[in-house]
Amino acid sequence: MRNSLTGRSRVRTRGPKPKCADIMVWDKKLFFVKIFCPTFRTLALAGLILGQQVVRAQSESSSSVYDPHEAFAPIFYPAYGDDIRGADGKPGARYWQNSADYKIDSKLDEVNQSLSATVTITYKNNSPSDLPFVWLQMDQNIYKLDSRGVAGTDVSGGRWANRNAFDGGYELKSVELINIATGKASSADTLVSDTRMQVKLPTPLKSGGVLKLRISYSFKIPEYGTDRTGRLDTKNGWIYEVAQWYPRMCVYDNVVGWNTLPYLGQGEFYLEYGNIEYSVDVPGDMIVGGSGELVNPMEVLTPTQQKRYQDAKASEKTVAIRSESELTDAASRPAKARLVWKFKCLNTRDVAWGASKAFIWDAARIDLPSGKKALAQSLYPVESAGDSAWGRSTEYVKGCIEYYSRYLYEFSYPSATNVAGVVGGMEYPGIVFCSERARKGNLWGVTRHEFGHNWFPMIVGSNERKYPWMDEGFNTFINTVADSAFNKGEYLRVLKDRSRLANAFFNPTNPIMTIPDQMPTREWGTLSYNKPGTGLELLREEVLGKDRFDYAFRYYVHEWAFKHPTPYDFFHAIENASGETLDWFWRGWFFNNWKIDQAVTGVEYINGNQAEGALITIENRQKLPMPVTVDVKEENGKTSRVKLPVEIWMHGPVWKFHYASTSKIVQVTVDPDQRYPDVDTTNNTWKQ
Ligand SMILES: [Zn+2]
Repeated sequence: MRNSLTGRSRVRTRGPKPKCADIMVWDKKLFFVKIFCPTFRTLALAGLILGQQVVRAQSESSSSVYDPHEAFAPIFYPAYGDDIRGADGKPGARYWQNSADYKIDSKLDEVNQSLSATVTITYKNNSPSDLPFVWLQMDQNIYKLDSRGVAGTDVSGGRWANRNAFDGGYELKSVELINIATGKASSADTLVSDTRMQVKLPTPLKSGGVLKLRISYSFKIPEYGTDRTGRLDTKNGWIYEVAQWYPRMCVYDNVVGWNTLPYLGQGEFYLEYGNIEYSVDVPGDMIVGGSGELVNPMEVLTPTQQKRYQDAKASEKTVAIRSESELTDAASRPAKARLVWKFKCLNTRDVAWGASKAFIWDAARIDLPSGKKALAQSLYPVESAGDSAWGRSTEYVKGCIEYYSRYLYEFSYPSATNVAGVVGGMEYPGIVFCSERARKGNLWGVTRHEFGHNWFPMIVGSNERKYPWMDEGFNTFINTVADSAFNKGEYLRVLKDRSRLANAFFNPTNPIMTIPDQMPTREWGTLSYNKPGTGLELLREEVLGKDRFDYAFRYYVHEWAFKHPTPYDFFHAIENASGETLDWFWRGWFFNNWKIDQAVTGVEYINGNQAEGALITIENRQKLPMPVTVDVKEENGKTSRVKLPVEIWMHGPVWKFHYASTSKIVQVTVDPDQRYPDVDTTNNTWKQ
């Protein structure tokens, strides 16, 4: 899903700084105590005489709200790891998850703007339990006027709101159980509750058993579907972007059992993996792009298009399969009233598709690290054509997928399709929907974001409905890394001063660990995208270093690829592979809204002699401790950088360290590169 305003990360600049008058007065007192208190000087000198480089200052008081026992409390995990979810951050030896294969045959009714379909679901119970019932997600039901999603939408409307009083939802024709041995169908005992459907089984589905369900249904395609699905009228016809279009199995896991949170709008999805074969029956003049592999290009493309399609698979440069000038040429489509497009997507948690007779279609080859190839494609209307817009989309798709594949994990689908339409930015496996109005850097931004989702949550299948930071936040992080790599940083925007983020990050009333449907929309971008994304940057750049972080992040992705990690699985994975206990960071950044405020409060010289060295006092004034970088400038021109680990804050909010000064110190600065969203930078520099 794109961020609230555009596909690019967006931050609010800082508002008025907190008033620090009281702190400054206190600083002066503290400074006085430090300089003139003979007891303190004696203690400090005694420490130095004993050969210590660093002297504790527990007895010092400060204006800090920091509590080291709270930050470094020894118990963080609510349970020990076990043989299902290991304490080492890997799935355990007895890890299990259920699977769901789908076979869907659908038909678009472009006159009535509806879709009818039959889906056969083959569900495998790999859990140790027998299941007396199963639950399915019926996300289209959010478009019924009496849905919880409609009822729970703020009167002012918003991005997820139902528009024009659209009354849709699933019309169920039949729900049947299919006997695996005989193939016989029998009507199922069902209960539909808002966006969920329970199927009560006549006999429990045994552990290790397989259930086959067949559901026939139809629904009206909303024009505006929660910014995730919909249709758009363009000069040359409607563009359909069809998603959440078949009943999907809820995830049953060892965490909560059945995950049945309703679809309310802001929270996304949590889905089982399986193989999906699907067909879409559309008017012959339409082009369809879908998740996975197009199985029957020979049946749905003209001979010219078949050749160009093959050419594109071998081309580094974008190849037009259906060009702008051919849009209104009847010969650019086979002369058939209707055509059935067939797709197959393996090991996937979902499929979606786009269809239109208005599509320009171009494509190019994607080169993957293993030597495998995939196809980058774009489908867009003439309104979006041109090099400043979607004419470069395929280049963007290819660029970001090749990058993410190198950085994290190889892209696993045969094609990656970018569809222009009414949806602002939404991801599905191997296909994304981006705004037909996106141009230049915005198109790159939204494309590389939506395709970044192919890693989170498509490859690493976290629970989006509960933990959007595990897909949006992780994705925001890899987006920034991709920006540096694409076309020599063509669209790279570096935020030079992270303190500008402080107001946006710490003013929300909620922590990152908030259910998305509970997040105020104005906090959605911060809590789901930018704050967790920046959290990973802080871990990478300030806490672990790039090598250790990247190794640990890859460990997490590889261990949980096509599986269902929880937040604790992620925390365990990063801690184990990096070898660092990070509970203080998880606690402060994710579970709480702890702020960062590092300060320099004083300098004193050993024996009052600048050449003998100095004690520099720094403070942690807010609740989140972080490692410290200090730049020291001396009168004689010497400058030094000191790095201190986060453990200095185990002892309290005030820390003194020895610095081997050679002359008078004229300036001391904490966080000199402005890498922290520090809430008060007025105390970051001490000057003589
Ligand atoms: Zn997103």
